Amino acid sequence: MTDIALKICDLNKTYSNGVQALKGVNLCVKKGEFFALLGPNGAGKSTLIGILTSTVQKTSGHVEVMGQSIDQNFAAAKLKIGIVPQEFNFNIFETPLTTLINQAGYYGVSRPVAKERGLSLLKDMGLTEKKDDQIRFLSGGMKRRLMIARALIHDPDVIVLDEPTAGVDIELRRLMWKFISRLNNEEGKTVILTTHYLEEAEALCEKIAIIHKGEVAEFTDMASLLKKLKKETFIFDLHEKLHSAPVLTQYKSKLLTEHELEVEKGQDQSLTDLVQVLNEQGLTIKSMRNKANRLEEMFVSIINQETQS
Ligand code: ADP
Repeated sequence: MTDIALKICDLNKTYSNGVQALKGVNLCVKKGEFFALLGPNGAGKSTLIGILTSTVQKTSGHVEVMGQSIDQNFAAAKLKIGIVPQEFNFNIFETPLTTLINQAGYYGVSRPVAKERGLSLLKDMGLTEKKDDQIRFLSGGMKRRLMIARALIHDPDVIVLDEPTAGVDIELRRLMWKFISRLNNEEGKTVILTTHYLEEAEALCEKIAIIHKGEVAEFTDMASLLKKLKKETFIFDLHEKLHSAPVLTQYKSKLLTEHELEVEKGQDQSLTDLVQVLNEQGLTIKSMRNKANRLEEMFVSIINQETQS
């Protein structure tokens, strides 16, 4: 038995117009992991998900879901994975319950089992009262929750959510986070989430891959990524009036106002040393504050490193 939920080896996709959307992607997601696939628009995230669902045909490479190759055992691989795509793709004249039962049918789930599971999922998603309404009368947020219920109807081991909270208001977003976390924590499902909301990845995911221009730019766990890239930025309120930022050989500095200096230091550099360097420059610190760095900044920094190398 393998402990790997999703294995992607040397995956390439070149579209017919010549765009190389994926260039030798290697990824491995362990069972039970909550994994974020992060990247700016156009990075190749949807292409990768499309290959998992067979809506996009790969050019070359190998993909396995719970040990089942999508080339050799597509039916078995399909049973193991539930996908929540970005776009709504329901028959809007059907009801939520019928949609779930019909979807279950594609996976060979019997009607009575499908009905029971469907009702339970609709309850989890707060959609019980809407179960017999036509989908076209549901709000956007309700449709999004129905998409999640539909992806879970065959009880897959792996669930892939493609930008699940795009355009969703904060309250609903938090509700969805809670539900998805529960799937991972309590039901042991492997969750793969694509997002460009960095706070979402930071809040939920333990493992992360950053994909950029069709290549994996970073593949690590969230804690190490934060540690590795963490730079602390301090803003010093100075007694002296400055016209330009002093030259500090070991630190990056920027003058914000004539009395305010912003200085960036690495995690390995001590704050005491920095204060001493400023004092040696003849500067008197009246007060200082820490400017928290967001994952967003790290993301930009990784992308910049990539483009420079
Ligand atoms: P993401 O989901 O990260 O925004 P995509 O996978 O949608 O990225 O796109 C990756 C690249 O492939 C982009 O340059 C995009 O323009 C291109 N692309 C996506 N779909 C197609 C297609 N059907 N035909 C040609 N090029 C495509």
